[in-house]
Amino acid sequence: MRGFVLNTVRVRDEDLIVRILTSKEVLTLYRFYGARHSYINVGYHIDFIVEETPKATIKRLRNVTQLPYDFMFDLQKMLDFKSFVTLLNNHLRDVSKIDGFYYNLLKEISEKISKRDSKRLLVESYVKLLEKEGRLHKENTCFLCDTEIEGKAALARAFLPAHEKCIMSEGFEREKLDLLFNEKKTLLFDDFEINRLWKIINLGF
Ligand SMILES: [Zn+2]
Repeated sequence: MRGFVLNTVRVRDEDLIVRILTSKEVLTLYRFYGARHSYINVGYHIDFIVEETPKATIKRLRNVTQLPYDFMFDLQKMLDFKSFVTLLNNHLRDVSKIDGFYYNLLKEISEKISKRDSKRLLVESYVKLLEKEGRLHKENTCFLCDTEIEGKAALARAFLPAHEKCIMSEGFEREKLDLLFNEKKTLLFDDFEINRLWKIINLGF
């Protein structure tokens, strides 16, 4: 079975509880002697076996092999990817069965990130996630005062559009947002704006 490590929690010195996203479910598994085995880190793509444990309430994680990335030694890309995975983990906190979209999204990111600016790719991926969940607000209406936004639109958490004055935040030009929301492309934004979008994402999915 294959999956992405969403989270790890160390227990009893050497063991780990590992949360893994597969294409069908989010698994919580127990790894004995985690400290003595190969290192398992958030964001890693792994191949593994789930061992049924009749008496225990939590199944065991066995035979873990890390599937290597071509960006493993690019520290900034790894950090950005891990941040995205951690945000996704919080977002999927109460989920067990899951649509294949999320696994495929992480797979797509991990395959493209070495050739792309990581934050641009993650901003575009986040917009895909919002659209998949029916939470992408393309309309030009402020979520706070419910009136039309003329000129620049500011974005709140989850990229909710608002007037700059309503959320006291600098806006983005409409045509740039339209290209991002409709085509999932960040190419009209400068790097400063990409950092602002990335900070909004980090408020939480
Ligand atoms: Zn408003």
